[in-house]
Amino acid sequence: MNELTYVQKRFINYIETIMCSNKLSHAYLIEIGDSSLEFPLILLFIKMILCPKSICKVDKLNCDSCNICKLIDSDNFPDLKIIESEGAQIKKNQLLSLKDEYQNKSLIGKRRVYIIKDAEKLNPSSANTILKFLEEPENDIIAILLTNNRYHVLDTILSRCQILSLNDDSDIDDIDDQLIQFIKYLISRNDLFLYYKKIYEDMIPDKDKAKQMFDMVEKVFIHYLSSSEEKNNKFSFLSDVRKDRILSYITIIEEELPKLMYNINYKLWLDAIYSRFVEVK
Ligand SMILES: [Zn+2]
Repeated sequence: MNELTYVQKRFINYIETIMCSNKLSHAYLIEIGDSSLEFPLILLFIKMILCPKSICKVDKLNCDSCNICKLIDSDNFPDLKIIESEGAQIKKNQLLSLKDEYQNKSLIGKRRVYIIKDAEKLNPSSANTILKFLEEPENDIIAILLTNNRYHVLDTILSRCQILSLNDDSDIDDIDDQLIQFIKYLISRNDLFLYYKKIYEDMIPDKDKAKQMFDMVEKVFIHYLSSSEEKNNKFSFLSDVRKDRILSYITIIEEELPKLMYNINYKLWLDAIYSRFVEVK
C-alpha cells in the first residue's frame, strides 16, 4: 500500500481498536474521498471482519493462506455483496434481492458483509427497504455504506449507522466547552444522575438538541479512539477511560439515538440512556 495519510492512519487505528476489542457495529457509513485510493482500505476492514483467523492488526493481515481472503481478493466471495447504483439512484429491487439472498444462514463463514456504494443515491423508497434490515440485522450481517458526503445521505440511514470518515473532520476543532462538560458528566458513571437537572435544563432540553449533542459526543469518541495519543490533548480527560468502555458508549448512542425519531417520551428516553451509561462495566 502507498504511504498513508494522517486520516487514513486514523481510520486504521480505529478499525484495529474495534476489532481487537470485539466491538464491531452492525452498520457503518464511511465517508471516502477518492474511492480508487481508499477502497483498498475498506477492503482491508472487510477482510478483518470476514477472515476466520480473527486478525485485529492491519500489519498482521497478510492472509495468503485462507480461502475466504483469497475469494475476497478475487471478487468471488459469496458472502460479500456489493450494491452499486444503476444510473442516478439505487433501486428498491436491488435491495430486495440483497435481502432475499441473505435470508438464509451463511454456509461458509462466521459473518456476511454487504457494501452499498454511493449511499447518497438511496432514495426514500429504496432506503425504506433496508431500514429494518439496518436496525435489526441478523447478528452475522454487517453493512458498510460508502459515500463521499454524509450530508447528502438520508437522515433515516445516517441515524442507523456508525459514521466514520476518511475525509478530514476538522470540525472536531470547533468542539465547545459545553460539549466537553457534557461528555465529562456522561462518563462520570454513578455521579451522572446528580447532574440530571443541569444536563436537562442547560444542555439538552429537547430531542433536537439531544440528537445534535449525542451525535457530537459519538464523533469525539471515535476521533479520540482513532488518533494517536499525543494529538489528543483536548480530550486528554478521556485517557482515564478504558477504550472498550468508550466503544460501549458509542454502541449505546447508536442504539438509543434512532429512537428519538419516533414519538417517544423524551424524559423517559433520557433516563434510559443515562442508565445504560451508568451500567457500562
Ligand atoms: Zn484470511
